[in-house]
Amino acid sequence: MRAVSVHRDALVLTSLLWQTNAVALRAESNRGAAGRARGLRPTEAMLIDSPYFPEELDALPDLLAGAGFEPDALIATHGDFDHLLGRLAFPGLALGLGEPTVERLHREPGAAQRGLRDHDAQFYVERTAPLALGQVQTLPVPGSVELGEQEIELHPAEGHTGDGTALFARWCGVLCPGDYLSGVEIPMISEGGSLGAYRATLARLSPLVEAAETVVPGHGAPHDRERALRVLDEDVDYLDALERGEEKPRLPEGRDTKEQLGIHAANLARV
Ligand SMILES: [Zn+2]
Repeated sequence: MRAVSVHRDALVLTSLLWQTNAVALRAESNRGAAGRARGLRPTEAMLIDSPYFPEELDALPDLLAGAGFEPDALIATHGDFDHLLGRLAFPGLALGLGEPTVERLHREPGAAQRGLRDHDAQFYVERTAPLALGQVQTLPVPGSVELGEQEIELHPAEGHTGDGTALFARWCGVLCPGDYLSGVEIPMISEGGSLGAYRATLARLSPLVEAAETVVPGHGAPHDRERALRVLDEDVDYLDALERGEEKPRLPEGRDTKEQLGIHAANLARV
């Protein structure tokens, strides 16, 4: 797992599997001076999404505490299993999910657990505890969630799947869109997702990217604003090719691999 600070209040943890990103955010807390006098930390922190491997999850509590990002809450951008593993590292914390994600998980009971089990079996990964989502806090989207004296904006982000929330921490300029704007993965239309919804999400993300300093996609390295805008343009071009039904479109540089062609074939079958 790689840990990269993109702002004094934002730490990106990248899993060795699929370059899946977890992001720790922190903000000054109104526990402030009075809290410090009582020995409380003057900040609150939140962990967005999760790394995959058990060793990475086991290392998270010490790593985050050591960096001053000990989380008070967990939140996930969408309901795909690889983003939902935070409670395996922090079983005492509640998991915040956008309302569309909570509805999806109710529609597909056990799907996240099955997805994790199947991939663990594929990669021969052993885990001591099964995935339990525990206490879920439903968050309205669009909306916002408080972190200390700041707030994280929640924007709808469907299209990859039928659910999805983009989180924008405007005070530190960090945008976490979920599985959009990845430099390692072409737009993926999974079950429940759609081309139209994907396009609408890219259009919605565009002004947020313009207002951001750093964009941390669900998979792949964080981008600065310029790079994120280029990826967004490439993704719109790709969706055009997908809509035309092109069998062998030219995929963006760095994403023109056999694996990505496989994703394209699956997208073609779905739209
Ligand atoms: Zn993902």
